[in-house]
Amino acid sequence: MAVFDHTEFDNHESLHFINDESTGLRAIIAVHSTALGPAAGGCRRWSYASDSEALTDALRLSRGMTYKNAVAELPFGGGKAVILADDAAPKSPELLAAFGRAVNSLGGSYVTAEDVGMSVEDMRHVQQQTKFVSGLPQSGGDAGGDPSPWTALGVFLGIEAAVKVRFGRDSMAGLTVAVQGVGHVGAHLCRLLHDAGARILVADVNSDNLNAVAENVPVEVIAPSEILYAEADVLAPCALGNILTSATIPKINAKIIAGAANNQLSTLEDGARLSAQEILYAPDYVINAGGIISVSHEYYGGSSEDKVRADVEKIPTRLQAIFAESNDSGRPTNEIADEHARRLITAGEK
Ligand code: NAD
Repeated sequence: MAVFDHTEFDNHESLHFINDESTGLRAIIAVHSTALGPAAGGCRRWSYASDSEALTDALRLSRGMTYKNAVAELPFGGGKAVILADDAAPKSPELLAAFGRAVNSLGGSYVTAEDVGMSVEDMRHVQQQTKFVSGLPQSGGDAGGDPSPWTALGVFLGIEAAVKVRFGRDSMAGLTVAVQGVGHVGAHLCRLLHDAGARILVADVNSDNLNAVAENVPVEVIAPSEILYAEADVLAPCALGNILTSATIPKINAKIIAGAANNQLSTLEDGARLSAQEILYAPDYVINAGGIISVSHEYYGGSSEDKVRADVEKIPTRLQAIFAESNDSGRPTNEIADEHARRLITAGEK
């Protein structure tokens, strides 16, 4: 398994491979950059087909966090942890404690939180072993807790901004949005879209999650294999990454792609493919920063939900600037977002 020669290796500062024999924990912590602060990014627990697939995910996700945190103007670098899910090593308090000790051993260069496959409760166990953790339950209007409602709010506001640019409309009423994945973020997003008058198509591979959403919000369920290509105005990917490829893009009917999933584009060139097809793409790490904004307010302390909201409400303005530059230059939105991120990182390093 190549590391330094890996196609996704991007000058990452450090990689940590964790093996805890007593609990069966196997994890990778990738610290991409600490140029702007501690490398912050959630911990994902996923059943990977191979170690090498897990490494690829850790490398890509941690780099994305560096860019996300820079564009969101947070005092964080970028990192990510992946836990290799294994039936022989179930998610137990002991396994989570072992993960917490691994995070602690890095002395604060990496700050963890929840991501796919991890919950607020899991973070409580991690917290027993380290203070370098966020996304913990809060009370009384303090900032923090489950980041996903904030991610959903940022995505919703970003969709509204994209609708304004692509369709010249101030309202979501009557528009159709296809939501891929109705887990933590997707479910909250459906509620916001419904309240704004949108028609909602959903798909998920988990029927419990589908049923939970359908009980609360009027949605039309379609097959997971069809959601990307649905007859919709907006496609909101809220499941996993690598879904926008040379094979899928030609079949997409939506004119806007704006969702929470990290690493939606399979390659950089896929951004140009979307642009050529006149699909307005909201760069994933710009639109989905709501959760890490909440994590940042919680981690540094003394903040409130109102302050988190005010910062999440800056997401549409950032997207509008990227959309405008893309329109003026004819260049894809993902390239412009990457340039913004690199500029902010370089300025912050000085
Ligand atoms: P989640 O695990 O709660 O939900 C993901 C959902 O997608 C699940 O219901 C899962 O069954 C479904 N899914 C998986 N594969 C699918 C497929 N092929 N078709 C349809 N559905 C499928 O995760 P989440 O916290 O809601 O996050 C969703 C995405 O947003 C992830 O990519 C995550 O990295 C990203 N993200 C989340 C946050 C956050 O605050 N939770 C922040 C930023 C980015």
